[in-house]
Amino acid sequence: MLRSALLAASRSTNARRSIQAFPPSRAVAQRFVAGETEEDALRVAGQLTGTGLLVTVDHLGEDITDREQAHRTVESYQRLITGMASSGLAPRAEVSVKLSALGQSLPGAGEPFALDRAFEIVRAADTAGVLVTLDMEDHTTTDSTLRILGRLRAEVASVGCALQASLHRTQDDARALATAGSRVRLTKGAYREPGRVAHQRFADIDAAYVRALETLMRSEARPLVATHDPALLATAIRLAQEVRRPPTSYEVQMLYGIRPAEQLRLAAEGIDVRVYVAFGREWYGYVMRRLAERPASLSLFARALVSRS
Ligand SMILES: Cc1cc2nc3c(=O)[nH]c(=O)nc-3n(C[C@H](O)[C@H](O)[C@H](O)COP(=O)(O)OP(=O)(O)OC[C@H]3O[C@@H](n4cnc5c(N)ncnc54)[C@H](O)[C@@H]3O)c2cc1C
Repeated sequence: MLRSALLAASRSTNARRSIQAFPPSRAVAQRFVAGETEEDALRVAGQLTGTGLLVTVDHLGEDITDREQAHRTVESYQRLITGMASSGLAPRAEVSVKLSALGQSLPGAGEPFALDRAFEIVRAADTAGVLVTLDMEDHTTTDSTLRILGRLRAEVASVGCALQASLHRTQDDARALATAGSRVRLTKGAYREPGRVAHQRFADIDAAYVRALETLMRSEARPLVATHDPALLATAIRLAQEVRRPPTSYEVQMLYGIRPAEQLRLAAEGIDVRVYVAFGREWYGYVMRRLAERPASLSLFARALVSRS
């Protein structure tokens, strides 16, 4: 119930206004987001890559309401990519992109508009030697995101994409993407979805995750195993050994601020570990989704309050 309440709050404009303006919640946000500017993101990316980790950087801001915001998002990614190239981060850093921040859901030709914006980012990144991965958003966007992925990959084959094990369709999508050179980030899925399209029980999501993971591990794709779940991580490592994949032919991916010691431990074992670093002024929805995943983290709020009083 708490999880549903937090997910509902993550979409509420009123809750957003009051929580964002509340100084202690900014302190909590700092645990999960790098800061508000490209410089903050580059600084944190530099710290993480300095410890042997890889990073993917996401500019927060989704569900935009006008085209001007999409252009500003592209400019932010372009500054980020330039910064990654000039600071030598490029081979160890990539960017993650939400198509809704590029106008995918704007009424009237949102998809072709977002495709054009995505091309601007992908071309700049390709020139700078920076990889791009598309985030996956709620199920109403999946077909559109996969169509856009296909168009981008026809020009830059390294563009990757996330899939969500919670959706019934995902095993078919994993099979379709399990081709040589394809980078597929497998997640459980962060969105509350209806039963007609998605598994509702945690055990069913985990089982679906393992099925899609097997498909990817047994293929020539590069599986990007995005989870903090110890059981799924153990399964991924066991499967990789079973199919004789070298540890650098797949990645484990975790979010910034979550299980940092485990990130370093896996990297020390020779596995490619990539940390997803989000930054930007629109941190509210992102942080609320993290809290919903682990309501125990709410104690962070309490501690932030106490330390201020
Ligand atoms: C790199 C990355 C990219 C992502 N991209 C997307 C995307 O594009 N689209 C999308 O819908 N979702 C995305 N997600 C979010 C994802 O779908 C899940 O919502 C999120 O990862 C939580 O699920 P989980 O797999 O970690 O398992 P959970 O079921 O949340 O947790 C399983 C277990 O992991 C451990 N664990 C989890 N959190 C913590 C913690 N804070 N501290 C200690 N242990 C913990 C615990 O043992 C827990 O029981 C992404 C996640 C990652 C890591």
